[in-house]
Amino acid sequence: MQVVFGGTFDPVHSGHLAMLHAVVETFPNALVRVMPNGDPPHRRVNASAQQRVEMLRLALPEHPRVLLDTREVGADGPRYTVETLATMRAEYGPDEPLIFCLGRDAAAGLLSWGHPERVLEFAHLCIMHRAGHLELPRAVSALWAHQYVPEQQLCASPCGQVCELKTPDVPVSSTQVRALVAAGQFPLPVPTAIADYIRDHRLYLDTE
Ligand code: ATP
Repeated sequence: MQVVFGGTFDPVHSGHLAMLHAVVETFPNALVRVMPNGDPPHRRVNASAQQRVEMLRLALPEHPRVLLDTREVGADGPRYTVETLATMRAEYGPDEPLIFCLGRDAAAGLLSWGHPERVLEFAHLCIMHRAGHLELPRAVSALWAHQYVPEQQLCASPCGQVCELKTPDVPVSSTQVRALVAAGQFPLPVPTAIADYIRDHRLYLDTE
């Protein structure tokens, strides 16, 4: 069973790590891939892809089922998550359960993705709670109205279903971390190694 936790991680913070922990616990037989995106088509990033990857290397726990997957980083990386999931499906074969995890805010933005309706052809979706985002917009939940199942059922099929995971409320975002750095306000809600990296590489100082 394969689980993918994708994002920009600009920078990785304690909210990401709490979600990762929840996902690892929820799917005890899964390999969990943390997958930073390259230069996303629909948003601007502040640290380079290489710096975001280096921060993830510093922050991710040493855990036998947690991997850093950098396939989307680099000039020839895929532009859309759907393309990545299609590649993974080809790689893991037709029967392997594949779960893509994302926060409720990211799920709400799914309609702006390239070919959002095709995600379930390749993977299940696991939507994690996010502090401050109480509900999915109707247009998004309507897309999957008939596919909702409890999370433990995702391992019974390769793709095509959706669950909502009751993850803890951790009211932290990368935007907030960047704003704190720009305003010179410390401590940051990130591991110490990431705070040191941000300082040493002078990241986010001119974030608007
Ligand atoms: P930004 O503030 O720059 O938009 P972010 O904090 O949302 O960044 P991302 O790297 O974009 O971080 O998020 C990667 C994934 O992790 C997304 O699916 C997002 O919803 C989820 N996520 C990030 N922070 C949290 C959090 N505190 N609680 C739950 N999910 C989160």
